[in-house]
Amino acid sequence: MSSKPHVIILGAGVTGLTSAVFLGEAGYEVTVVAAHVPGDNSIEYTSPWAGADWRAQGTPEQPMVCDWEVQTFDYWVEVMDRERLEPELPKSGVKMYDSYGYWDGPVTEVLWWSPHVPEFRVLSPLQEPLLSLNKSLPANGLIVQNAIAYRAMSLNVPQYLLYLQEKARLLGAEVIKARLPVDSGLQHAIATAEGHAIAKGRKRPDCFVNATGLGAGKLCADEAMYPIRGQTVLVKGEAIAIRTRSSDGYGAYCIPRPGAGQTILGGVKEVGSWSEAVDPATTSKILERCACIAPELLTGDGGGFEVISAQCGLRPARKGGPRVEKQVLSGKRIVHAYGHGGFGYQTSVGSARRVVDLVVESTSSSCESARL
Ligand SMILES: Cc1cc2nc3c(=O)[nH]c(=O)nc-3n(C[C@H](O)[C@H](O)[C@H](O)COP(=O)(O)OP(=O)(O)OC[C@H]3O[C@@H](n4cnc5c(N)ncnc54)[C@H](O)[C@@H]3O)c2cc1C
Repeated sequence: MSSKPHVIILGAGVTGLTSAVFLGEAGYEVTVVAAHVPGDNSIEYTSPWAGADWRAQGTPEQPMVCDWEVQTFDYWVEVMDRERLEPELPKSGVKMYDSYGYWDGPVTEVLWWSPHVPEFRVLSPLQEPLLSLNKSLPANGLIVQNAIAYRAMSLNVPQYLLYLQEKARLLGAEVIKARLPVDSGLQHAIATAEGHAIAKGRKRPDCFVNATGLGAGKLCADEAMYPIRGQTVLVKGEAIAIRTRSSDGYGAYCIPRPGAGQTILGGVKEVGSWSEAVDPATTSKILERCACIAPELLTGDGGGFEVISAQCGLRPARKGGPRVEKQVLSGKRIVHAYGHGGFGYQTSVGSARRVVDLVVESTSSSCESARL
């Protein structure tokens, strides 16, 4: 049996798996226990449904989120550089693209992150691609009044989750697929997870990480958790750029899926909705709103998109921001890592490093002092 301290992670989304990789690299034995693992699709498992691109969402009032976003950006640059230098490495599915942000009105966010991304610039109305975009819009409708350009990443999300899982396994992690009970509280759930790990020959854990996404709402009776529903449409063709447009009362985005010859279209954010049913009217609106920002993908019959599928995911949002903190519950050390809303990928590295710090603090103190 390994002499390393053992951590059981509940959850195999991007939060749990990135934590598994960083804990493995920090010298911990890791066991992941999750109802859904990479390759599974379920409304209870948000990670496979994301676009996902790096587009900072942290505000100056959330310095921790902003810091995690910058850390993740820099880490992904390193991942891409390593893959270029060592072509035999497993492919992460992370790729840098030209990225454009469009507003039909004033810029509605603080662009604090502009110094951190390459080639950031504000576009004048006479610059491409803004000039052509505005020419293509209906004469009697809204036009784009403000635009920025920069370079940022998009992820092939299914590939990235498998990549993280494989990386964690190569570091010695065991991934166990099992649903944990939620109705009898977190204490019972972690005891059940411990039972699964011991049945697989792992030793008693020194610490748990709770990365159960929206599931944490019930598991921890955390009333601050709520869903932000997103509906997306997967279409044929890899868009040449990432684009986001904020218009009058709605958003639209187009995110290429690296290496898959596909693109995710979306922009829907329905706060508080738990519905997993795809709404055909919403699908039509997404296609209509995205047509002008991704014209190179209009290769279908009648000049429309070639639709592969439409789907929904629930962003695990939390009032007050993500909960990444330690707790001692009946003598068990727990580090919580959930509530990453619509930015779970782009904060994943900073969040995982914080998890490692908290696990180190927890496991190097007695339960009594960790409680403080
Ligand atoms: C449409 C859409 C677009 C998005 N776009 C972006 C983007 O561009 N950039 C970005 O950074 N983020 C984006 N996001 C957000 C991102 O997808 C989420 O923040 C992230 O996936 C959350 O990951 P997680 O690991 O915390 O949760 P999840 O992926 O939901 O994982 C939770 C894990 O916990 C497990 N679990 C839960 N309850 C139990 C239980 N009782 N027993 C056992 N296991 C349990 C689940 O099985 C799963 O393994 C988007 C999300 C959506 C829906």
